[in-house]
Amino acid sequence: MNNKYQYIIVLTMAMILISIPVAAESVDLVINGQQVNQDLMVIDGRTLVPAEILSTYFGETVIWDRYKDELRINRNKFKVRLPLNERVAIVNTEVIPLSIKAKLVNDKAMIPLRLLPKIYGGKLAWQASDKTIYYSSNQIEDIDINESKNKFQVIIKTDSLPDSELQLYHQPQRLVLDLKNINIGDAKDIIPLNKNIVKKIRVSQYQVNPASVRIVADINQMSSYYLKKEDSKLILEVKSKNRIVTSSITSDYNLKRPDSNSNLNQKRIVIDPGHGGQDPGAIGISGVEESKVVYQIAKKVNKLLKQENFKTLMTRGQNEFISLSGRAEMANRWPADLFISIHANSNNLSTIGGTATYAHWSASKKNWALAWYVQSEIMKRIQIEDNGLKAANFAVLRETEMPALLIETAFLSNLHEEYLLNTHDFQQQVAEGIVAGIKEYFNNENN
Ligand SMILES: [Zn+2]
Repeated sequence: MNNKYQYIIVLTMAMILISIPVAAESVDLVINGQQVNQDLMVIDGRTLVPAEILSTYFGETVIWDRYKDELRINRNKFKVRLPLNERVAIVNTEVIPLSIKAKLVNDKAMIPLRLLPKIYGGKLAWQASDKTIYYSSNQIEDIDINESKNKFQVIIKTDSLPDSELQLYHQPQRLVLDLKNINIGDAKDIIPLNKNIVKKIRVSQYQVNPASVRIVADINQMSSYYLKKEDSKLILEVKSKNRIVTSSITSDYNLKRPDSNSNLNQKRIVIDPGHGGQDPGAIGISGVEESKVVYQIAKKVNKLLKQENFKTLMTRGQNEFISLSGRAEMANRWPADLFISIHANSNNLSTIGGTATYAHWSASKKNWALAWYVQSEIMKRIQIEDNGLKAANFAVLRETEMPALLIETAFLSNLHEEYLLNTHDFQQQVAEGIVAGIKEYFNNENN
């Protein structure tokens, strides 16, 4: 975390957004930590600042077109036109309405302060105790690429960590990462690559009101992707289809089939905590996240299975996102003997509750036997509704090549069950039920 970022956090906690009800003379302005020694103007509660600050604090060349009566900033991919005495700014081709006109005062061009975050991202904040407006812009400082055979990373360095949204689109397959309240800075707009995993990265100032930068990764092939945050860096990681899964989440992973005698009876079980990373899954009435509680249950299942001498593999780490196909593929490649996916349910009706175990609608008899053992062992240990066995066409059930289950442990939309899901005892009871069911399945398998 850099200083500027800490600074913004501390300030925003104590401040409200500015709507300045005080006289101009008594208001100070601080831009990115630097005190501005220029006069501000307040008209109808709106603050105007001299256009000069665009060159002083943002390094812009500001052109004053007397003929058209407008101010202009021309940067590489970024053009701003600000007609004086009109309530708009035109940034690239986008027209931004302004609540106050830019104007000439004593031959000095004055622009609305609120235009700055629209162009440069970041935040405006007013601190009443020292009658100061703080503006911290947010720009992309750099975009680095880290490419290896199995893994591809886009490392985005920013002034402070922006809010972001990541989406996967198909035909053609691409990951679209939107960063909020940020300016593109001097980032290159196209980054060509060696095309093993990602073909091309495109960067654009997608929007200016509010300022948003869009980064598109055109995918060649991948098995999973994941967005992580480190200080003021965002890292978009894409893993290759041909990868060997990394050791952080797969301590027992190896690509050899169980052929040596010592491993002959050691069954391999993939434990799949649903969701994760950018995808929290269902969110409970009081905010409990599915991805977190199911991870805790999965960890308990993992521990118990190891104590029983099973070989295990978790599909994800605590804050990792893995695609549904990536999870199935992990199990198929190992190869696993069983696949157990753990979820928590949600419904519009808060009175709905209970536990259900799903298998694929074309699952084998063996697979349904497993579902029956697991569901009954869980229900012996917890006191909520037994919703029984259900058939579904979930991707992780469809794409796995071994008996597979998806357990909806309880409902996060039900206040009582949300509470239970978040307790150690309930998590432990569910985990013990799952493991007891798996053991019973293997005990009966060869009879
Ligand atoms: Zn789920």
